[in-house]
Amino acid sequence: MTTDLNSDSLQRHPASDVSDAILAWFDQHGRKNLPWQHPKTAYRVWLSEVMLQQTQVATVIPYFERFIERFPDVQSLAQAEVDEVLHLWTGLGYYARARNLHKCAQVVCEQHQGKFPVTVDELAALPGIGRSTAGAVLSISQNRYAPILDGNVKRFLARLHCVPGWPGSTSVQKVLWTLAEHYTPRERCADYTQAVMDLGATLCTRRNPLCDECPLYTWCAARVTASQHSFPASKPKKERPVRHANLYLLTHQGRILLEQRPPTGLWGGLWSLPDQESVAFFCTLSERSGRDDEQGVLYQTLTHQFSHFTLQAKIFHKEISLPDQVAEKNWCWYHPEQPEEIGLPGPIHKLLHKMSSSLL
Ligand code: SF4
Repeated sequence: MTTDLNSDSLQRHPASDVSDAILAWFDQHGRKNLPWQHPKTAYRVWLSEVMLQQTQVATVIPYFERFIERFPDVQSLAQAEVDEVLHLWTGLGYYARARNLHKCAQVVCEQHQGKFPVTVDELAALPGIGRSTAGAVLSISQNRYAPILDGNVKRFLARLHCVPGWPGSTSVQKVLWTLAEHYTPRERCADYTQAVMDLGATLCTRRNPLCDECPLYTWCAARVTASQHSFPASKPKKERPVRHANLYLLTHQGRILLEQRPPTGLWGGLWSLPDQESVAFFCTLSERSGRDDEQGVLYQTLTHQFSHFTLQAKIFHKEISLPDQVAEKNWCWYHPEQPEEIGLPGPIHKLLHKMSSSLL
């Protein structure tokens, strides 16, 4: 055991002792009936892995089932409109994942004849797939040796060896990858990958690790030194800046005007409330018609945390005319009672449904 941040100096435990203990625990307690495990095709495993990034299993299950029903294979996903993919993703957050998912399906169909490649390097070259996701797809669907290092694995490895530092930093990642490679067995690769994900999610949890039930109890340096909560170290704190914006809830006879955002950037490709610039166009038209010449009233303030900043948006409401003008732009009229199949950012989705009873 060591606290020295140098992968060469780590005194590793015998790999087969550790992996055998993890696999024995998995045989008794592992999750074997998740929807993407039957059958474990590369497509289904990949889809689940992308959904599971930053999201819990219980949240992902209904999304996965809806996706698989609509897109049973990579071809059907590749042929879909990105709007439909975003619509089915609404509520899962981190929408770049959905856009990459769609792009990746298209690359697999165009460049790999509709079959996922079977090397980590080729998989990791696809949109939205990193080394750990590539390892998970390969080990689970092909039962090949391909270590993973997702958040769950980082946590138990950092505790097992009291690895100091934030796992997002390059130097700490290097140490953790060395450990992951060391402990991953050459046999039962699929079970081992599922086992370490399950161990991190159900035993070695962030707040309350269940060390008494853990197969790593005797080897774990953090357990021995009662320092589980010090590992892994948190991300160094940076003040999150606040961005201010005005958004406009323009309604017309029970419908709400939405604008599609540009394909990249914040809420890229999703449908949201128009901002000040877009709404100026509408107000100009309204004034020309001699109606709707008020600024609108402050309806509510919306606060939403993004990874790099906090958004504080004032939402102004206004009932307007001229509904036909929207056809010319990336605008649509949205009816909360009969919603269109479009992708909405989570906070906007919530807002539209909350306000439908009070305003419309
Ligand atoms: S013994 Fe405790 S801290 Fe160590 S790996 Fe197991 S659950 Fe995590």
